[in-house]
Amino acid sequence: MIIVMKKGASKEALAEVRKRIRDLGYKAHVIHGETRDVIGAIGDERGKAVLQSLESMPHVEAVVPILKPYKLASREIRREPSVFEMAPGVTVGGRELLVMAGPCSVEGESQLLETARAVKAAGAKVLRGGAFKPRTSPYAFQGLEEEGLKLLAAAREATGLPIVTEVVNPRDVDLVARYADILQVGARNVQNFPLLRLLGQQDKPVLLKRGMSSTIQEFLMSAEYILSEGNQRVVLCERGIRTFETATRNTLDLSAVPVLKEQTHLPVVIDPSHATGHASLVPAMCYAAVAAGCDGLLVEVHNDPENASCDGPQSLTPEGFAAVMEKLRRFAAAADRDL
Ligand code: PEP
Ligand code: MN
Repeated sequence: MIIVMKKGASKEALAEVRKRIRDLGYKAHVIHGETRDVIGAIGDERGKAVLQSLESMPHVEAVVPILKPYKLASREIRREPSVFEMAPGVTVGGRELLVMAGPCSVEGESQLLETARAVKAAGAKVLRGGAFKPRTSPYAFQGLEEEGLKLLAAAREATGLPIVTEVVNPRDVDLVARYADILQVGARNVQNFPLLRLLGQQDKPVLLKRGMSSTIQEFLMSAEYILSEGNQRVVLCERGIRTFETATRNTLDLSAVPVLKEQTHLPVVIDPSHATGHASLVPAMCYAAVAAGCDGLLVEVHNDPENASCDGPQSLTPEGFAAVMEKLRRFAAAADRDL
């Protein structure tokens, strides 16, 4: 249920309504809107009719049901897009596009630093790099784990770029959160509900990837797991879905951008690297993603793609990435966005 407060309702009035919601056995999530505050009362769907009684409280304007199965993620509860900080001074969801770039996996100090310096010089605002890698084969490189996290922290120190890195296993959440600025959930873990719940309890933004066979509704229900635990900073990332097509690694569902924009207030970014699987296809999909209305990009860049231990064929070189960023500025301007 959405409890819509009257315009100008005081903090005390808000606190009183929150208490009543809690007393009725529901969680109260306050969303400060431009003209008025609303409170999402979230909990057991079966008994929610009791919340209707809140309508008689003096500072409550209305109590309305949220029709979508995802509640806190829906546009019904927050009409304006969510804009928030990914790290100090780096925001997402506003006018400025957020470009995150870096290697698939952290392989070593010089590889990471060289790539980090190059993506920063080209205009990326966040450094990506996997320390824990979810690999299809148990025999493939699994990542440098904590050593990789330390290298990421050193690269942040050297460049000032905040870092986004994946947490694969619930038991590593605390460890990864000690180093990372942004916690990434990979496509394979999009329905790892215990992991999502733990990330909902963290005070760090989460980059949630769409699963390769998730519907948009399932994707938003996964976001809801994080939001319902109290973490409001969730960024959705479309990274391609499985289809019959084999010319590309996955099929980039660009229509997911306008669909998500209608359904949710959460920021949406595109990963053209895992979507296409080929570096030559990445630039066109970056431009198209911006035209479609995305809030940012997650792009794989490697200082030496030919010798990368993971996803080299889809990684841009530093020069290739710089050229994309240059051209992207014009697409951004056409889409009324800054880069
Ligand atoms: C990644 O971005 O490092 C990754 C493993 O991608 P995905 O989870 O989308 O396959
Ligand atoms: Mn990769």
